[in-house]
Amino acid sequence: MSTDFSTVREDFPILRMKVNGKSLVYLDNAATMQMPRQVMEAAEVQQLSRHANVHRGIHYLSESSTSEMERSRDTLRDFINARSSAEVIFTSGASQSLNMLAQSFAAIIEPGDEILVTVMEHHSNFVPWQQLCLYTGAAFKAVPVTENGELDMEELRSMLTPRTRLVSAAYVSNLLGTVNPVREIVRLAHENGSLVCLDCAQAMRHTKLDVQELDCDFAAFSGHKIGGPTGTGVLYGRLELLEKLPPAYFGGGMVERVRLEDTTFAAPPLKFETGTPNITGNIGLAAAARYINALGIEDIAERENALLRRATELLSALPEVEIVGHPQNRSGVLSFNVRCLHCFDVASMLDRLGIAVRSGHHCAQPLLDAMGLDGTVRVSPAFYNTFEELDELAEGLERIIKVTKGARDGNHL
Ligand code: PMP
Repeated sequence: MSTDFSTVREDFPILRMKVNGKSLVYLDNAATMQMPRQVMEAAEVQQLSRHANVHRGIHYLSESSTSEMERSRDTLRDFINARSSAEVIFTSGASQSLNMLAQSFAAIIEPGDEILVTVMEHHSNFVPWQQLCLYTGAAFKAVPVTENGELDMEELRSMLTPRTRLVSAAYVSNLLGTVNPVREIVRLAHENGSLVCLDCAQAMRHTKLDVQELDCDFAAFSGHKIGGPTGTGVLYGRLELLEKLPPAYFGGGMVERVRLEDTTFAAPPLKFETGTPNITGNIGLAAAARYINALGIEDIAERENALLRRATELLSALPEVEIVGHPQNRSGVLSFNVRCLHCFDVASMLDRLGIAVRSGHHCAQPLLDAMGLDGTVRVSPAFYNTFEELDELAEGLERIIKVTKGARDGNHL
């Protein structure tokens, strides 16, 4: 590893905060990663020197705003190795990317067609397809998971049929951190004549998304999970498909010609981007991609995997802690529960110690149902976290386990 992560925290002033009188230990990066100065600065430059609407005006500010946003699109094209910038659609995040795609699919899906997702999807890659099927009379199917929390690939194979129009699956599970065999999923789907969409929201920071190498047809991700602004994201689509798919939203900016009786649409990507976009946000998202590239995704992966392994070791050593899911290949997140304590209680007691973790259903209720759970506590270290912070997490949990012993054993505190 060539990147020196010891100084990286200087780029994230928020990490110096005190919470409840303690130094903040921010371990909720799967929900939202903190934003580096470099992204804030890129947004500030845009606001201070280029702020104007894009793709409309012919005055100086509008043109410089447009060219900077389109330069940002090119940066994101390179970030995911798309063939063309026309394949990069700016959205407000993975949720909008997936909803938009599902809405466009509504025009090409017929009763009896099938959409295949997996039980481990975030609701954002589950509900849009489920609702699409309800509206269109298509069949909605979800591939089950094994006891370890991995995709049941045998089931996936057997659930593909000649009517499967699309397979949409997470690259990495936001609840268990399971890294899915996406190459195999793409291969099987394509052999079957089905299209493939990958929800890459939890993969992007530590996995190089190369859409050409993966050969996926669509991919979605959110900016705020890689240090970009909230309300930003991308839908990648293979150009020939984007050319055929109808737009999901209509209005200004996405048309070629509007007449009383009909409208023709602009070419992708603008066909899918109606209204004034999140210009500053999109420019910030490109700055985040540049920041991640400068650190090096492989180095980030190595560092984050080491942190996750350490967290797993520390938490596995606590007898009252039950790790949820044991996939062979895990990245980004670790879920657990403390015996006889509700996950909200654990998270709020950790918060008293200045430690931020996520708790609840993580928008993955079908997976929790399959595992017979209501919720989990989720820890998700980023490259700027330290091994000492993980020690603090383990010590905090030990303290919580100790002070709640009476209650957990059925006695009053
Ligand atoms: N998919 C996955 C796997 C996620 O983890 C998330 C965010 N938790 C989303 C989709 C939705 O992302 P956003 O809220 O940024 O739209």
